Amino acid sequence: AKKQGRNNIKFYTTAMNQATLERLRIETALRNALEREQFVLHYQPQVDLASGRIVGVEALLRWQHPELGMVAPQRFIALAEDTGLIVPIGAWVMREACTQVQRWHAAGLDTLRLAVNLSARQFNEPNLVALIAEVLQETGLPPACLELELTESLFMHDVALAVSQLHDMKALGVQLSIDDFGTGYSSFAYLRTFPIDVLKIDRSFVGDVARDADDAAIVVSIIALAHNLKLRVVAEGVETAEQLDYLRQHGCDEAQGYYFSHPLPAHEVEVLLRSAIHD
Ligand code: C2E
Ligand code: CA
Ligand code: CA
Ligand code: CA
Repeated sequence: AKKQGRNNIKFYTTAMNQATLERLRIETALRNALEREQFVLHYQPQVDLASGRIVGVEALLRWQHPELGMVAPQRFIALAEDTGLIVPIGAWVMREACTQVQRWHAAGLDTLRLAVNLSARQFNEPNLVALIAEVLQETGLPPACLELELTESLFMHDVALAVSQLHDMKALGVQLSIDDFGTGYSSFAYLRTFPIDVLKIDRSFVGDVARDADDAAIVVSIIALAHNLKLRVVAEGVETAEQLDYLRQHGCDEAQGYYFSHPLPAHEVEVLLRSAIHD
């Protein structure tokens, strides 16, 4: 038994070292990725359900790894968050996305709104508001066109700090949206306390909305809640005509999802926008 115990310990240490090494490897790779410009943004159209027009895009980060190919954010965002690398990566995302969308504005394409995801680590950076102000100034993107997507978990650490940070952001003229609404530790209190403009219904409620009575009840309630609070409501993860019909019939303002378009590289979004203009 003693011998086996020792083996277990040895096995455990080896496994741990491997995990540590793996993390270190990814951390180094992430650091290099920024310098070597391996990050790219894809943009997913957001459609106004009354007019059918593309009114915005959400910027979604991709890592174009020389060997691994296109790496999805689930595989590296958490680690970027843990190591703090999300801060410089997030700053790059902000600058790149605002530059791109302002370019579309300047080209006479529809005056799109741009949604950018913020992580907890970024949100807690004291410099964040200054960074956003600087990027808006540099790129010329109208502040009202920038929407920052926040998750409910960001508000949990320090409510007072969150309130002041959100008010500083609002003072810049940007819009604030709550991502994945309904999945976090939702509290009605923060809807009253925080200067929010948009609720995004999490896609886990949208998938079965046309079939599951509970999901339908939740979606209809979120739409009513948003409208009663004078907020815009956006459904994410719309994949079928059935889901879209349901959402439209129940007054949802906007939607995004594979039904309309996958997230696309900038030049492909541009093709979509140009064809929409000629309709
Ligand atoms: P999210 O903010 O909830 O983004 C929506 C995710 O749903 C995206 O995954 C998008 O590709 C996917 N999606 C869109 N339409 C559909 C659909 O119809 N069906 C299904 N099944 N999925 C759909 P993606 O791009 O892999 O991003 C995953 C998450 O990574 C994002 O979730 C967000 O939390 C995070 N993320 C992405 N880009 C950034 C970024 O620049 N900064 C930060 N902090 N987080 C980011
Ligand atoms: Ca999002
Ligand atoms: Ca979401
Ligand atoms: Ca989500």
